[in-house]
Amino acid sequence: MRDKIVAGNWKMNNNLPESITLLEALKKNEMHSEVKVMVAPSFPLLFPVKEMLKVSDIEVIAQNCNAHKQGAHTGEVAASMLTSIGVKTVIIGHSERRHLYNESDDLLAEKVNTALDESMQIIFCVGEELEARKANRQNETIKSQLENSLFHLNAEQMKKVIIAYEPVWAIGTGETATPEQAQEMHEFIRQQITERFDADLSENTSILYGGSVKPNNAKELFSKPDVDGGLIGGASLKADDFSAIINAF
Ligand code: 13P
Repeated sequence: MRDKIVAGNWKMNNNLPESITLLEALKKNEMHSEVKVMVAPSFPLLFPVKEMLKVSDIEVIAQNCNAHKQGAHTGEVAASMLTSIGVKTVIIGHSERRHLYNESDDLLAEKVNTALDESMQIIFCVGEELEARKANRQNETIKSQLENSLFHLNAEQMKKVIIAYEPVWAIGTGETATPEQAQEMHEFIRQQITERFDADLSENTSILYGGSVKPNNAKELFSKPDVDGGLIGGASLKADDFSAIINAF
């Protein structure tokens, strides 16, 4: 059985006092224990947030890492630095990294390799822009993202990958993919994994949906057979909204 996961991507939000306030509130809320919960603070907050969540089941994950193992890359963070403080999962390929920081499929493939060399688990994001969706080219877009950055892996490595489908037109826009659109794409992604690897691996790969997930639409999205959870942006910054999304399973 694949994991049900709700991950909060804080993006470049929450300084230290704000993180403390959010986590204090979150810890007071009841949350479904069968759902794996993760939060992704920015780099300087990883360690303090991990300390604050020591006695909780919430996993602290990173939003990014560099493709290089170490060296002269001022301002960058290596995967080995993350694992050295106990961070075991990293988000790679978020559309904001792809578009605002020009991260290419090739670079993302390198990041995937580097993170896997550190035995990290990866949440790998894929998603089409509005133009592609309007031209009905969403499947070919996602297929090429998978092929270019993930499908060079072997099956053992692929077991460490969680996919997040985040249609770019739904991120931070208030516009969500319909549960049917999400299901259709998640099924397509699973089929690609089956074709490249095998049905067993594909059935065990969690595929999360991201893009304006809120307490009022989470239940319907999560009720779809191939939607195994969510990668949550804006709503993960509010304890009650984030808990409600977790409890929507
Ligand atoms: P929103 O939930 O704010 O649309 O962000 C989604 C996202 O990008 C999560 O990684």
